[in-house]
Amino acid sequence: MNERSSKAVQPLDDWLLQILACPACPQHHPVHLNDEKNGLICACGKYLFSISEEGIPNMLVEESTVLDENADPNSINSEVKS
Ligand SMILES: [Zn+2]
Repeated sequence: MNERSSKAVQPLDDWLLQILACPACPQHHPVHLNDEKNGLICACGKYLFSISEEGIPNMLVEESTVLDENADPNSINSEVKS
């Protein structure tokens, strides 16, 4: 018997947050959890991607919410230089 069945809504794992990138920006900025922890906000501040009850982020640009029409993804300096 093991008791690993936790039924609570899973918070997004850190590793998942780290590999997720905004699909809407040409620079593919990283995303971070919003305050309600039910969505992911692009580093550019423009797009909000929803997270399902199962903890699966919906990274479809067409289904994202535009938080700030005037946010400019190009003005964000990416910390990672490749
Ligand atoms: Zn973005």
